[in-house]
Amino acid sequence: MSILIKNVFFKEEPVDIYIEGNIIKQMGQGLSAQIRADKVIDGTNKAVIAGLVNCHTHSAMTLFRGWGDDMELEAWLSEKIWPYEARLTDEMVYWGARLACLEMIKTGTTCFNDMYWKMDAISTAVEESGLRAVLSSVTLDSSNTQTVSDIVAPIKESHKKAGKFSDRITFALGPHAIYTVSKDIFKWIDSYSKDNNLLIHTHLSETPTEYDNCVKAHGLSPVRYLNSIGLLSPRLIVAHCLWLDSEEIQMLADNDVKVVHNPNSNLKLASGYKFKYHEMKDKGITVGIGTDGCSSSNNLDMIEATKVASLIGKAWRDDPTATPAKEMFKCATVNGGIILRQNVGKVKEGYLADLALVDLNSTAFTPNFNFISNLIYAAHGDNVDTVICNGKILMENRHVEGEEEIMRMATLSARKLFFNK
Ligand SMILES: [Zn+2]
Repeated sequence: MSILIKNVFFKEEPVDIYIEGNIIKQMGQGLSAQIRADKVIDGTNKAVIAGLVNCHTHSAMTLFRGWGDDMELEAWLSEKIWPYEARLTDEMVYWGARLACLEMIKTGTTCFNDMYWKMDAISTAVEESGLRAVLSSVTLDSSNTQTVSDIVAPIKESHKKAGKFSDRITFALGPHAIYTVSKDIFKWIDSYSKDNNLLIHTHLSETPTEYDNCVKAHGLSPVRYLNSIGLLSPRLIVAHCLWLDSEEIQMLADNDVKVVHNPNSNLKLASGYKFKYHEMKDKGITVGIGTDGCSSSNNLDMIEATKVASLIGKAWRDDPTATPAKEMFKCATVNGGIILRQNVGKVKEGYLADLALVDLNSTAFTPNFNFISNLIYAAHGDNVDTVICNGKILMENRHVEGEEEIMRMATLSARKLFFNK
């Protein structure tokens, strides 16, 4: 299969893009005169961007959208999330993940980093949606009742099962957080990740409560604690990291740990908002952007998350130059590719053909003096018109195949989950 995108804006200039198989094979002006492709897309009045990379989410939590907002964290978790997560079936998770993939396609995301229950159902949903993802099965550890081998058996099992899916799906390890996973399990996960060259995806230093409890339990702050048990490594991706001092930032940098900023979730749960982007960047840490799950960010729109990351960075520093749109866009694309170890995040020959075309024929892009500024500050995910992932068209003219059925089945699944009918 080959695709030719004709006359599309890229960095303020019209170009043609030729995709062969799943790779961006050639870019330039006047390609359409020389090349024939199986499918031609007219890019007139559209701009191309690399597909956005959502570096932290819990996809199937789309089912929890609007179910329990504006509550205290403890009450929210114990009344609205945990009792219902215990009732999730494979089918519910599958439709929740299908809905998440649909929403990501509709808003220009082509690759995401997920952590949730029932990874097999999520893998099937991602496989069928056509998206690319790094998937981890969440690990929680109640080691007072379970042995290490009880806890690690399902991890090995889902690793084995992950082999049957296409290479759009990458298996990773998902220890939930330092307050839900014991030292022994973290250590096992680290050595398994080392032996199998797998990424580890966890939450870290998200709230002051987590920080204080960690100091009480271990005499160390969260980052220092993970460092003390040898977990900091280039394979580790940590979401949140709102509560860090400069020594901890240095530890993360020294070990090439990747950090994901989730501004919407942090604001809504009032976890904190002083994400130290500059301090991390200055030390050479790769920072990505995530939405977190729909129970705490309510949508998976990476354009919105990137805008909020920019605005909040300016606000708390009292500095409008602090987090420019261009730099935040790089976090949401290039850095995402680096963090998830995928050859994506750039519109460039040799990169995987994971692209989004943005409709310029809208108020958000009128006038259009600065495309990236308009994209991040004025547009929304629904300005995305066409999405290609792995060289396959997943959305054209804002239509995704089967979208009505996905929304219908996700609504039914949520109803069954919360109301048992
Ligand atoms: Zn999360």
